[in-house]
Formats: sequence, structure tokens, C-alpha cells
Amino acid sequence: MKYALVTGGSRGIGRAICVQLAEAGHYIIINYTSNKTEAEKTLALVREKGGDGEIMQFDVANQEQVELVLNAWIDKNVGKTIEILVNNAGIRKDQLLMWMSNEEWYSVLNTGLGGFYNVTRVLIKGMLVKKYGRIVNVVSLSGLKGLPGQTNYSAAKAAVIGATKALSQEVGRRGITANCVAPGFIKTDMTEGIQEKDFKQLIPLARFGTSEEVADAVCFLASDKATYITGQVLSVNGGLYS
Ligand code: NAP
Repeated sequence: MKYALVTGGSRGIGRAICVQLAEAGHYIIINYTSNKTEAEKTLALVREKGGDGEIMQFDVANQEQVELVLNAWIDKNVGKTIEILVNNAGIRKDQLLMWMSNEEWYSVLNTGLGGFYNVTRVLIKGMLVKKYGRIVNVVSLSGLKGLPGQTNYSAAKAAVIGATKALSQEVGRRGITANCVAPGFIKTDMTEGIQEKDFKQLIPLARFGTSEEVADAVCFLASDKATYITGQVLSVNGGLYS
């Protein structure tokens, strides 16, 4: 059993990742920012699978909060190391660049890119000591291709891809892998306003994906079946673009 932290584990893709990591036998730390009820639902699903875990509130964009909460967990759990980290928390606030507000730009960057930095920087130390770690960052097709109306989101996700490739080379010798999973259109709260019928003709597999299909890829990269894979981006997008 390993300790796994999933940021944004309260809903959508993060929830499916929590459930599948629990099925793989890990202890799951379910991070959320505001939705405690949904985080508790994820924990209940984890327990239904015979696993265990806990919920953990922090805003990934708030460095002080991240450090306070994670260091408190580390201090309280002497001898335990969070060896699996899934940086999944993300938001989108679509807007054409010419109309983009500072709030729309920085909140998306601070959550997607800042969240990766804030959380990974704390947990990488334990992994380096343990000489083992699995870091999986949930990025997006938008960070590979760029999508109009998403300069903020595309920038955040592309930056995480670059950071993952760099980090994988820093920590590989210590048995730590760092990879990305890049979903296309997945049915979650994030895509609520996007109609599947309007986009499915663009997708070779002719449908939106599910959170579980993304979780399958994340859990593979987080497992010991992916020991020789690092610095990669695995697209889960129905063949849309990669
Ligand atoms: P979602 O249903 O909107 O869920 C977002 C999750 O992130 C929630 O658990 C939310 O917590 C958490 N979160 C948001 N801001 C946070 C913050 N500042 N600190 C901590 N947690 C925060 O989104 P999703 O569709 O599952 O997306 C998950 C990831 O996949 C994101 O990185 C997203 O960019 C990426 N992605 C999604 C799609 C898609 O089509 N859905 C496509 C490509 C990539 P609360 O419940 O507390 O709000």
C-alpha cells in the first residue's frame, strides 16, 4: 500500500482517479478546495472499494496554505511518505485574449501551473529520500494544440507539460517518474456547457470520454507497470488530436 494524494479529488476526473487508486490498494488523500460534501462522497466510494483514505482541504493556488496543510500531515505521519502524487486540480475561465481580465488569466495559471509547483515542491522531498515516486499531472489537449478562447488554460497546461519533462530529468535517478495525461473532451462538471453533439463529429471515436477512461491512464502511469516511462504525455482524447 502506498500513500497517494489526488488534488481536486472531490469531483469528475479526480474522483475516478481516487476510486481506481483505492482499487489498486493505495491509501487515498482526497484534496478539495470548497466542496467538502463531494470530497466526502469520494471518500465513501473509496471505502466501498475496500480502501481507505482521508479528505484534505487546501487551495492548490495558495502556497502558504498548501505548505501548512501538507507539512502538518507529514509531521503527524512520521515514517509515512506520499509516494504517488496526481496533480489534477484545474479550472478554466475561457475568454478571448483581447477581453481577458487579470483575474481570468492569473486564477487559471495560479491553479493549473501554480498548483503543480506548490504541491510537488513539498512532496518531492519525501520521494527523493524514499528513492521512489510517481507524479502524474493531468493536463489537456488544449496545452498541446492550443484552443481559441483558452490562452490562459492552454498556457497553464503547456507549462505543466514543460515542467514535467524537466522534472523527470531531475529526479529519474532517484526512482521517481513524472508524466502527464492529456484528456480531450471528458464528461464532467467542467464541460457541462459543451454539447457532445456539436463536437463528436470532430472526434474519431465519435463521443466524449469518461472520467474512468482518464483514470485508467493515470493509474497505469502511477503503477509499477510504468517503471520505464517518464517525461511523457499520454493523450486520452478519442483520437481528436495529439
Ligand atoms: P471538475 O469536474 O470541474 O473538478 C475540478 C476539481 O478540481 C474539483 O475536485 C475541485 O474541487 C478541484 N479544484 C478546483 N480548483 C481547485 C483549487 N484551487 N485547489 C484545489 N482543488 C481545486 O474538473 P474535471 O473535468 O474533473 O477536471 C480535472 C482535471 O482535468 C483538470 O486539471 C482539468 O483541467 C483537466 N481536464 C479536463 C477535461 C474535461 O473535458 N473535463 C479535459 C482536459 C483536461 P471542489 O470540488 O472543491 O471545487
